Parts: sequence; C-alpha cells; structure tokens
Amino acid sequence: MRKFFEIYRKQILSCVILLFFGFNFVIWSSVFKKAAEPDLSVYFFDVGQGDSEFISAKDGTQILIDGGPNTKVLSELGRVMPYYDNSIDLVILTHQHADHVTGLIDVLNRYKIGMVIESGADYNTAEYHEFERIIKAKNIKKIIIDSPVEMYFYGGAVLKFLYPERSYDGEVLKNVHDATVVGELNFEDKKILFMGDAEKNIEARLVYEDAVGDIDVLKVGHHGSKTSSNTFFLEATKPEYAIISVGAKNRYGHPTQQTLSNLEAIGAKIFRTDLDGTIKLSISNGTLKLISGK
Ligand SMILES: [Zn+2]
Repeated sequence: MRKFFEIYRKQILSCVILLFFGFNFVIWSSVFKKAAEPDLSVYFFDVGQGDSEFISAKDGTQILIDGGPNTKVLSELGRVMPYYDNSIDLVILTHQHADHVTGLIDVLNRYKIGMVIESGADYNTAEYHEFERIIKAKNIKKIIIDSPVEMYFYGGAVLKFLYPERSYDGEVLKNVHDATVVGELNFEDKKILFMGDAEKNIEARLVYEDAVGDIDVLKVGHHGSKTSSNTFFLEATKPEYAIISVGAKNRYGHPTQQTLSNLEAIGAKIFRTDLDGTIKLSISNGTLKLISGK
C-alpha cells in the first residue's frame, strides 16, 4: 500500500488539488450566481395554448400561477428551479379549465406544495377532480379567495388578490371565467397584473371599484381573446408591457386582431409566448427588464 502511495503520490496529490479547486469553484460559482440573481423574477412559461407563470424571489420564495395544458410545465420548472429544490411555496389556480389546471396535477404529484389558492367554484371535469383529489390526499393547505386579500413575502413584495370579491366555493357556474382569481404583484414600485382568463365583466368591476390603477406589466386576460382587454380597462391600467400566453396556430384564433390593436393603441409593448417562447421578467433595484426565450 505504501509503495502504491509512493508511486502514485504525484498523481494522488494532483487529484487532491484538482478536487480542492473543483470544490471551491462549485462553492464560489454558486455564491456569484446568487449575488447576480435579480431580486425577483417572473417567468411566463411557453406551455402552448394555456397559462403558467412562476414567481421566484431571491430568498427562495416560489409561487406558481396555473400549470398549462400538459406536462410541459415540469420541464419549464426544471430549467429555472435549482436541481435540489423539490418544493414550491404556493400554487394558484386562477380557474378550473383544462388549459390552466392539467399541468398542476403533475406539479402536485412531483413537488411538495406549501399551499394552494383557488376560487373553489365547482367544475365537473376529470382534470379538476384529480387536482382536488391530490390536494386532499396529500393534505395540502387550501385557501379560497372570497374577498380582496394581500399576501406579503420577500423584501416588501406583496401579492394582492383583487378578485373574486365573494365566495364561489362549491358553486356551479355557467362560465367559470366569472370566478377567475386575479392577482397583482407589487415589488420595488413595479406592478404586474395577472388576469388569468378574466373577461370584460371582471375588468369593468376592477376599474369601477378602483381596485386597479397604472401598472407596468399586464398578463393579458384569456390568451388575447376578444372577451377581454377592453379599451377602458387598458386606459385605466396603461401597461407598458403586455404578455399574451398563447399556443401557436390555436383553434380559438387567439390572440384576436382586436385585442392586439387595443394593446397597440395604448402603447403597450407586446410579448407572446407563441412567438417569443418563455418570457423572463426581472426586477432588481427598482429596474424592470423583460427577456424573451427565443
Ligand atoms: Zn385559458
């Protein structure tokens, strides 16, 4: 054995040195990566015809809004979450349609979820029932939004739930869009409004009740459908950026020319997941940046 060490001493030593520097490199690169990270990031995932947004704060707080129509959300999460991270603090379901809830079934199965927020409106589909079944089976805390409420997290960040203003818990609706959970993220004086599939009736209520004002970024309601993005709502919110989550060549004709024209008329710069891929928004020291994935 001793002879072995003598013969291979040089090689062993250089291996040890290499390992040492390698180890240091891993540590330092993770430190620098942390330091270079923005204070807060929001990803608008390209999940095809559906919605999925991910909020990630520098302290590790993670919030997922909707999961898109399939398992694509898992690969998107895998690209932006640390490989060792297997938990998400909060999952928000804006409403029960398949293009928002289906991917969340995989997310609930794969990750440890701190809490789920939804409207609680009843909806008789296999996807939504499975989503509810997993919440119960895994004993995940669930909060129903039935009045405006604010949630504070990292560095003064606040997520304001603006809608629904009443309980839809257990109610069967003609149009489940009427109970869409609408949230506004405020951080370092920047405002990002997540409309889910909210339509003109909700937009009107938010404006009349002064629940919304000038914002920076609008996650456009209902994939750019003509049911949403009314002119007076856009004039009240004046977004600098408008993000449309939509699938290429979808059968609904989203986004409509009317919506694109309305957004252009108020001077919003438009980003689309079908053309731009996943869109990353970052806020650091009060500066907001948007980068598209393609
Ligand atoms: Zn939708």
